[in-house]
Amino acid sequence: RALLGTKAKQTAGDGSGFEMPFKSVLAANRGEIAVRIMRAGNELGLRTVGIFSKEDRFTQHRYKADQAFLVGQDKSPVGAYLDVEGIVAMAVANKVDAIHPGYGFLSERTDFAQHCKDNGVTFVGPTAENLQTFGDKTSARELAIKQGVPVVPGTDGPVTTIEEARDFIEGTGVGYPVIIKAAMGGGGRGMRVVTASAELEKNFQLATSEALAAFGDGSIFIERYVKDPRHIEVQILGDGTGDIVHLYDRDCSVQRRHQKVVETAPAMLLKPETRQAMFDDAVRLCASAKYLNAGTVEFLVDQEGRHYFIEVNPRIQVEHTVTEQVTQVDLVQTQIRIAAGATLKDLGLVQENVKVGGVAMQCRVTTEDPSQDFKPDTGLIEVFRSPGGMGIRIDDGPGFQGANISPHYDSLLMKITASAPTRRDCASKLTRALDEMRVRGVTLNKPFLLNVLKHPDFVDGTVNTSFIGENPHLLA
Ligand code: ADP
Repeated sequence: RALLGTKAKQTAGDGSGFEMPFKSVLAANRGEIAVRIMRAGNELGLRTVGIFSKEDRFTQHRYKADQAFLVGQDKSPVGAYLDVEGIVAMAVANKVDAIHPGYGFLSERTDFAQHCKDNGVTFVGPTAENLQTFGDKTSARELAIKQGVPVVPGTDGPVTTIEEARDFIEGTGVGYPVIIKAAMGGGGRGMRVVTASAELEKNFQLATSEALAAFGDGSIFIERYVKDPRHIEVQILGDGTGDIVHLYDRDCSVQRRHQKVVETAPAMLLKPETRQAMFDDAVRLCASAKYLNAGTVEFLVDQEGRHYFIEVNPRIQVEHTVTEQVTQVDLVQTQIRIAAGATLKDLGLVQENVKVGGVAMQCRVTTEDPSQDFKPDTGLIEVFRSPGGMGIRIDDGPGFQGANISPHYDSLLMKITASAPTRRDCASKLTRALDEMRVRGVTLNKPFLLNVLKHPDFVDGTVNTSFIGENPHLLA
């Protein structure tokens, strides 16, 4: 009785030291992340506002919101969610306090963050200046070098001519293979590996034109191609004062064509000193930028255990769920609180308070057909049964019985996250959950995910980014 009456000590991320000034939040996105944002807003006692394109008028995220508005009526299906002016005007007209952009779409657009600010709506994310620094991988690299963070040997800034490229690769002793990357690239797109001098010119030109087509900017740069690295990333939070905490790491080494498939927190089989060095580097880098809100600092770790910075993702990431599960910090709620003016201290987010326990593992269920080179499948979902049970978390959006999966958007249907004491237990929970799930009417990547989850190297946690490429039998 006495205990019940005592004010509990503030724990990491509990928000008890902060009074929420916002009354509403808008999710400027669709699919599972829009639903995720609305859930967080709802839990914070906010009115949740959604947007939808005309193609999405029957999708679930529209109905999860307390209020939802059609946007971009005269725009393309994707263009509707990129309608900067229309979305902000609608937010202002409906007295929206804050806009959370999710990932993709407008999440990293400096002009959107600025336009929100100019119209008195809070952008839930980094400052426009943070977005500028970290949206461009070459300027992020520059800052990392300045802060003494190890980077992959690469060109100083963008490369504009084939002669410059050849000088860097053949003149400085870097040698082949190299990777050509789009400066503004993301989502595993805009990268080309070059293994020999004879292939350089063709790939250089293709990379430039692909970067221009995909990101509206043809700038490219070149890095040494690290052999069989692991992809390890550090989740950070900042409050804009230079105060940064890290929420430990994730291993995202299981990738198909540079796109993440299964992610785990915390990362395992790393030397403690390498891990600590990555945490310190991530915190120092973001502190130097007075980083605001949630971000991820990504590294590659080579076979010798050396780590190299590759980029900062200035937004919430698809795989944030695994960090939430092992730290018990709700990252999306925290993002909204920080945007509302909370400092990390207000939220109990001091480094010693942030603890990590157990293991969490997420797989991305997509409407793609592994037997047809992962071609997106579309159509009516006739049967939809979600998995459940102990230790299973579902983040869904587009999927329900009667839903129509359209060809217009990315094919993520659902994220399944398992929490358990060990990696092995997580893999078996995910396997069981996938077996339990029933979706009829559209083809899923389920057989591929099951192949990965059952592979002994995956279960042991020894895999690197070459795992799927070297095991093509996993694909079908
Ligand atoms: P994106 O922004 O598109 O996600 P990243 O720079 O984060 O691109 O790289 C995505 C993935 O590409 C990495 O996880 C890794 O598998 C591979 N990669 C990127 N740079 C290198 C490199 N220099 N050497 C080897 N692999 C790389």
